[in-house]
Amino acid sequence: MTETTLSGGCQCGDIRYTITGQPLMAAICHCTMCRRAHAAPAVAWAMFAESQVAFDNEPKAFGSSADGQRRFCPNCGTQICFTASYIPGLIDISIGSLDDAEAIPPEFHYWYSKHLSWAEFADGLPRHAEFPPLAEDEA
Ligand SMILES: [Zn+2]
Ligand SMILES: [Zn+2]
Repeated sequence: MTETTLSGGCQCGDIRYTITGQPLMAAICHCTMCRRAHAAPAVAWAMFAESQVAFDNEPKAFGSSADGQRRFCPNCGTQICFTASYIPGLIDISIGSLDDAEAIPPEFHYWYSKHLSWAEFADGLPRHAEFPPLAEDEA
């Protein structure tokens, strides 16, 4: 398999990153925390091993819960990534911050139990009420 490289960053360009290889998963989150952090009805995430992602500039971290940290550009506010103690060694990158957001199509929805009634996606992707266990993807 050929090694792929993706790039992305914030709106002002202060934060840039490159990603090597494929995501472990990609999905759209409807949880209330993502909604508030991104001020958006839902947020598309691609999960990678932290070792796959290299930042030119470290984004600023905010502890959005006891377990989770969200990182963003302190200059323009673009939300870049999410890490949490319950997913050690892994990092979610906001697909919307990729230079080519078409490069990683989401595979399912999660926290769909929280989704907004007016934000209905016209896709046939699986919708999980909460966050699915990793093994559920193989079922
Ligand atoms: Zn910025
Ligand atoms: Zn979320």
